[in-house]
Amino acid sequence: MRCPVETLAAFDIDANEVEDVILTHLHYDHAGNFDRFLRARFHHQEREPAYATGRFMRYPRLSHSFEVEDICGIVRLNYARRVLFYVGDTELAPGLTIHAAGGHSAGLQFVRIRTHRGFVVLASDVSHFYENMASERPFTTALHIGEMLEGFDRLLALTSDESHIVLGHDPLVMELYPAPSAQLEGIAVRFDVPPSGAHPFAQITRFLVFTWRLSARLPVRMEDYSTDLRQTSQRQTWDLLFRYHKPGTAFDFRELAVTAGADVAFAVAILWCGPDSSSNPIDKDGFLFRLTVGLRKVDGDWRIAHEHHSVPASD
Ligand SMILES: [Zn+2]
Repeated sequence: MRCPVETLAAFDIDANEVEDVILTHLHYDHAGNFDRFLRARFHHQEREPAYATGRFMRYPRLSHSFEVEDICGIVRLNYARRVLFYVGDTELAPGLTIHAAGGHSAGLQFVRIRTHRGFVVLASDVSHFYENMASERPFTTALHIGEMLEGFDRLLALTSDESHIVLGHDPLVMELYPAPSAQLEGIAVRFDVPPSGAHPFAQITRFLVFTWRLSARLPVRMEDYSTDLRQTSQRQTWDLLFRYHKPGTAFDFRELAVTAGADVAFAVAILWCGPDSSSNPIDKDGFLFRLTVGLRKVDGDWRIAHEHHSVPASD
């Protein structure tokens, strides 16, 4: 992990000049270094410090996500009148709102910002990986699974579509968005521009979005999907996925490999499909599904030129 103060310095921002810091929650990888922001006020949900100082902290299963010195730091800052507490959603500035989403931590909140391309949400830990949302299987660090699932819905409700959701821990984020400058390559990315169609992962993300829509309660229509996918899809093959990918059934990426050249790329995904162990035991056998995709760059965008599906995935 990089120190955020160093990253701010790379943008010529002096942490001591920062006036407002939004804490999405108080887990050790999202809080701390308070002493390095001498002037800042800290904005968070009231439920978070109540949880982090409350009765559940006697259980290491829950307290291990917190660093006790960070929690003491918040208490000290509060005595110094430098902490603002919110109960639910609040507008902090025009075009900048915070939204409570609980679940992963009691007082988790995410941030919504207006950009050139519309509202983008910075989800923090509301969903760790795109796959958590796609498969409706929350990350294992959890206080309340139901609230975590509702959190996925809230992210979707507050944006125009999935391409405006930025997740806190998914390495895909660094792949899909461009760096603001060559010096910041691998350190920071821009969210005011769409996720790149110039990277083959964008296509795979569409596939994830595809499975994600399948898992939602909405009836799925092929017309809703990207033209790239629709043009090359064989409806019969996708029907197989429609049949197996019902809410509650497994649909996990076991492997995903992408090899890209200048204008041709190749992606292979191995997915586990089918009922999971909580389904009817008679119907417990799922299957491995292999998706191989050949991509070609056309006018700067990667297009799926060929798709092949193997069921079961053998050899
Ligand atoms: Zn967390």
